[in-house]
Amino acid sequence: MRTLILIFCCLSLPLTVSAHKKKHDHGHDHHHEHKHQHGDGQGLGSHVHGEVEISLVSSEKQLAVQLSGPAESFIGFEHEAKTDEEKKKIADLKERWTKNLFEMFTFKSGVCKPVAPSIKISALQDKNGKTIGHSTVNAEAVLECPFDLKGQSLTVKLRELFPRIEVLKIEALPENKNPIVRELKGETKVVGIEF
Ligand SMILES: [Zn+2]
Repeated sequence: MRTLILIFCCLSLPLTVSAHKKKHDHGHDHHHEHKHQHGDGQGLGSHVHGEVEISLVSSEKQLAVQLSGPAESFIGFEHEAKTDEEKKKIADLKERWTKNLFEMFTFKSGVCKPVAPSIKISALQDKNGKTIGHSTVNAEAVLECPFDLKGQSLTVKLRELFPRIEVLKIEALPENKNPIVRELKGETKVVGIEF
């Protein structure tokens, strides 16, 4: 358990840096972008449709995964689920994250098991606590692998599995190595990260 706590504490560091950087990079607002700060103080940076961020931190046989992005990129809508079809989309996404995470993050050497996966789809609120018609997915998990992650190549397939993700920003912290930063967009659907 101590290892998990350690991993999650270290995850917040690079993400905070990227959140600050992003504010400067995206000073302008496109008419089709909906940018809002998270009302609950959770998550990473601002809410931009089509943009998803993930953070990966490896430690021996464990990979801590953290994901944040607009719900629209995963389920195609952000209002409260009302129809059975909408409710099913949310249930499917939650099941995928908790049970089939290996489809999104694949190592050649074998299948890693998710430990304590959590996924939240929360409504964004303004500073007065009023819901503003957007929602964000925040998900975390630790993948426990039957092999040491040093020297392993991880394939990230999120853009292939969720075609609404236009830009996938990845920050990886391999154990005892320099951080790796990748940005996937356009025709680049899948990326390999060397740990
Ligand atoms: Zn939105």
